[in-house]
Amino acid sequence: MAKSTVWHLDKSPALRSTREIAVLGAGIAGCTSAVALAKRGFNVTLIDRHPIAGCEASGNSQGIVYPKLSARDDLLPRINLAAMQFSSRYYQPFWAQGLGQQCGVIVVPEDDKMRQDFEIIGQRFKDQPDLVQLYDNRELRRLSGINLQAQIGLYFPKLGWLSPTDICQQLVAQHRIPLLQADIQRVAHSDNRWHLFDADGQPCITSETLVIANAFDCKQFQQTEFLPVTQLRGQISHIPSNGTSSALKTVICGEGYITPQYNGQHSIGATYNKGVFTTALRPEDHQTNLEQICATDSGIASAIGSQNVTAMTGRANYRCTTKDYLPIVGAVANLTQLVEDYSALRRDAKSSIATAGSYLPNLYINCGMGSRGLSYAPLSAEILATELAGDTPILDEDLRLALHPTRFIIRDLKKKRL
Ligand SMILES: Cc1cc2nc3c(=O)[nH]c(=O)nc-3n(C[C@H](O)[C@H](O)[C@H](O)COP(=O)(O)OP(=O)(O)OC[C@H]3O[C@@H](n4cnc5c(N)ncnc54)[C@H](O)[C@@H]3O)c2cc1C
Repeated sequence: MAKSTVWHLDKSPALRSTREIAVLGAGIAGCTSAVALAKRGFNVTLIDRHPIAGCEASGNSQGIVYPKLSARDDLLPRINLAAMQFSSRYYQPFWAQGLGQQCGVIVVPEDDKMRQDFEIIGQRFKDQPDLVQLYDNRELRRLSGINLQAQIGLYFPKLGWLSPTDICQQLVAQHRIPLLQADIQRVAHSDNRWHLFDADGQPCITSETLVIANAFDCKQFQQTEFLPVTQLRGQISHIPSNGTSSALKTVICGEGYITPQYNGQHSIGATYNKGVFTTALRPEDHQTNLEQICATDSGIASAIGSQNVTAMTGRANYRCTTKDYLPIVGAVANLTQLVEDYSALRRDAKSSIATAGSYLPNLYINCGMGSRGLSYAPLSAEILATELAGDTPILDEDLRLALHPTRFIIRDLKKKRL
């Protein structure tokens, strides 16, 4: 392996001996992180601007644990596979308690290319029926409970849907993690501690270690401003179930997705609204969701029947997305020092640099969950906690580096963008 990959190692690991951790942000990323750390004996406090966990992106009543496999064996699909398997095990006790449903997820192809990929995936995983199976129309109808028209589809028996907001609140309650309500505007390090300040400049809490898990709002802090995350609005819609649609037994994903009914409603979704900044519901987004789910399969369109867009309810919020569609998890670099130490990459992207990276003392981040927070958060929390505890890494190094916050700095240096 080229020596330049040691950028993820810290020049000053001695500072890491700490048992006290503040986790900023009580969404699914923050709550899973807090629990993974508490399970390893750390003394964890969560901080959020809301009095309870799971109020922003993680506030939906039905979220899908999305499957994403690929015909290729690249980094992204390998990470997605690891995340899917880890999250399926992680949510097992919640499903067993009756939260959400491990009802299985069917994915139907959107075009011919996907149909071909599905055949390859079905073949590749044919010995792992608990993970995924390629089925024909007859089986898809039997499994879903409705008259799907898709001729083939992938079925993931161990996945399903959950209420992210319930999961966040359960995690906090079950592990008795204290949640401090504060809107943090600035963080600063002095006297070997992180200090978190509110809008009035008042210190709200101090801690030896800080994990920033506040999604896109990590941009407001000088230390994490460099991270290339964007905010992408999304809206889900709720439609009333009827005699036919209530027979739906699995989640179905394609161009859109639909969940089995819960409290007499199905969730359908979700829109991607670049450059739109409102959490108010928009009728045109309900319309998009309806069109997408009808385009997913005409069998779903028949099952849900005609719907009145003006009467629909739903929820809108913001995803925190990254360009490479992967979350960001790990130690936060001392940007100026790391750029200086690795500046040779600007001249020669293949330079071998033996210097370890420079990192801010005891500062970590876990964000960038994009559209897949439910799938990614348990794994990224585990990665973070194993690292802080000094446990054996749970992912191969190439996958781990693909999730590391410093990847963007190294890429930018190599492409002379920094
Ligand atoms: C419409 C829609 C549908 C979606 N559907 C799915 C789905 O089906 N399946 C799926 O896996 N994913 C889905 N997602 C994506 C998923 O919701 C996100 O990936 C996930 O919730 C992100 O979790 P998070 O903890 O990173 O962010 P959040 O849940 O937004 O948590 C961040 C927390 O930080 C707090 N915070 C922020 N700044 C500050 C501050 N300065 N001080 C104090 N507190 C602060 C916020 O209050 C918030 O509680 C969907 C997203 C949207 C918008």
